[in-house]
Amino acid sequence: MKQKIAMFGGTFNPIHNGHLNLVRQFQEQMHFDRILLIPTSVPPHKPDDGLISGEHRLAMCHIAARPYPFLQVCDLEIKRGGSSYTWQTLEQLGQVYPRAEIFLLVGSDMFLTVEHWVKPERIFQLCTICAGARNMDEFAVLKQHAQLLFSQYGAKTQVLDLKVLPLSSTEIRQRIREGKSIDQLVPAEVEEYIRREGIYR
Ligand code: ATP
Repeated sequence: MKQKIAMFGGTFNPIHNGHLNLVRQFQEQMHFDRILLIPTSVPPHKPDDGLISGEHRLAMCHIAARPYPFLQVCDLEIKRGGSSYTWQTLEQLGQVYPRAEIFLLVGSDMFLTVEHWVKPERIFQLCTICAGARNMDEFAVLKQHAQLLFSQYGAKTQVLDLKVLPLSSTEIRQRIREGKSIDQLVPAEVEEYIRREGIYR
């Protein structure tokens, strides 16, 4: 059987329990051999809103991944530097894992815009995209989008029904700036790292 390798990319500024909850559920349903957490270098879709260094974001991903044997942190995009394009990362993963089946894990917002990313056809050639819906209404919308991606691009996709925690890194950064607690929103060791390093203040 082919190895199943999934990539989960993001700014992870910082990584939070919403991300971890998502990968845990993907893993429960899809049984990957490995899920790679890949923090982006400079995200092409986002303005630079308080983006801290790649080293800090990688360090927090390493701490957060520790309890999960299937999670592995990958510094490929941070090492490559410049704008992080998913098609490039998928090509590199194809070289590292030439015999594996590659999956791309995304939240529903990302799934609905994936055909507007740079080189979408290349992305669809290189992987199966897995998207998590938050409820049955969203499930129907994502399923419809999956149909469109298949008919227009022959894209392989999988839409899963997941329970999503309503939480964002933006909210966490804001809470830290306002001196509010981020207990239960990120793993305790990540909270400790943020406090020790004095980041996001
Ligand atoms: P920011 O608030 O800085 O924009 P974010 O919380 O959205 O950050 P990202 O690092 O941009 O986090 O997201 C990486 C991936 O995680 C994306 O595919 C996004 O859809 C997904 N994601 C983000 N937050 C959640 C959440 N609470 N539950 C499930 N998926 C999430």
